[in-house]
Amino acid sequence: MRLPIVHHPDYQAPLHDGHTFPMSKYGYLRDVLVEQGLTGPETWLTPAPASEAMIARAHDPGYVARVFGADLTREEVRRIGYPHTERVTRRSRLACAGTLIAARFALETGIACNTAGGSHHARYEHGAGFCVFNDVAVAIRALQREGGLGPVAVIDCDVHQGDGTAAIFCGDPGVYTASLHASGNYPFDKEKSDLDIALPDGSGDADYRAALDTMLDRIGREGPFSMAFYNAGVDIHGDDRLGRLTLTEAGIRARDRRVLEWAQAQGLPLTCVLGGGYDRDRRRLATRHAIVFEEAQAALQRA
Ligand SMILES: [Zn+2]
Repeated sequence: MRLPIVHHPDYQAPLHDGHTFPMSKYGYLRDVLVEQGLTGPETWLTPAPASEAMIARAHDPGYVARVFGADLTREEVRRIGYPHTERVTRRSRLACAGTLIAARFALETGIACNTAGGSHHARYEHGAGFCVFNDVAVAIRALQREGGLGPVAVIDCDVHQGDGTAAIFCGDPGVYTASLHASGNYPFDKEKSDLDIALPDGSGDADYRAALDTMLDRIGREGPFSMAFYNAGVDIHGDDRLGRLTLTEAGIRARDRRVLEWAQAQGLPLTCVLGGGYDRDRRRLATRHAIVFEEAQAALQRA
C-alpha cells in the first residue's frame, strides 16, 4: 500500500535571507521524497487552507481573527518569530488542514504523513517559537467535533518540549500528551504534559532509545487510544543548530521505526507530522526529515 503523504507547495513561504527558520527545507523534502519514489504531484494529497472557524476551535477566536486580519500586535509577532505576511498565514492554515487530512487517512490506512506541521509551541491564546497555529490541536478538535473519536495520544519527539500542545490539552481527558525532549532547550519555562521525559544535553542514540522505550511503555499503559499523532522533529540530531542532543541519522531512523512498529503492534492509527529541524545544510536536513516517510512506507508494506 502506498503511504498517504500530504503536501502543498505553499508550505514554503518566502522569508528574508538569513532568517533562522530554514523555510526552504519543505521544497527540498518534497524533492527528496519524489526522488525516492515515495510521492509525486499525482499522488500527494493537497490541503485547502483551514478556515478561521476550524482553527478557532483550538485557539482563542480573537487571536485567530488577528492572524487572519493581519492585525497581530508587535509582541505577538515577535513571539512567533516569523514576519506577519499573508503567505506565512496561508502556510499555517495549510499545515493545519494537511495534518487533518493525514489524520483522516491514518484512520483508514493505519499510517499517514504530513510534510509540514508539528507546530507544537502554539498555544490557545498566542503563537510562539515559529508556530502560528497548533496543527495537531486543530486536527484533534475537528475530529472530536465530528464525534465518535476515542482518546488520542500525542507523542512528541521533537527536541523541544511540546509546551503549546500540553497547555491546550491540559485537563482534557480525551487527549494524552507525551513529550520527549532536551531539558536545556527552549522553551525554558516548560509546561506540564501528561508525560514529560527530559534528557540532559549531549544525550546520544543509546540514552535516547532507552528514554523512548520508557515513554512508549508508559503511554501503552495509559491506553487504549483511538489514534496517535507523532511529532517526528529531527532537531535531535547532533549537527542541529537548535538542538542539544547528539543523535545520529541511524538513531533518528531507529526512533521512527520504533514508534511506527509500536503503534502498528497495537493497531493504533498514527499520523506523522514533520516537526523541527534546523541544519544549515538544507538538503541534508531534508534527507533527515525524509527518514520518517521512508520508515512509514516500509511499515505499511510490512503490515
Ligand atoms: Zn523543535
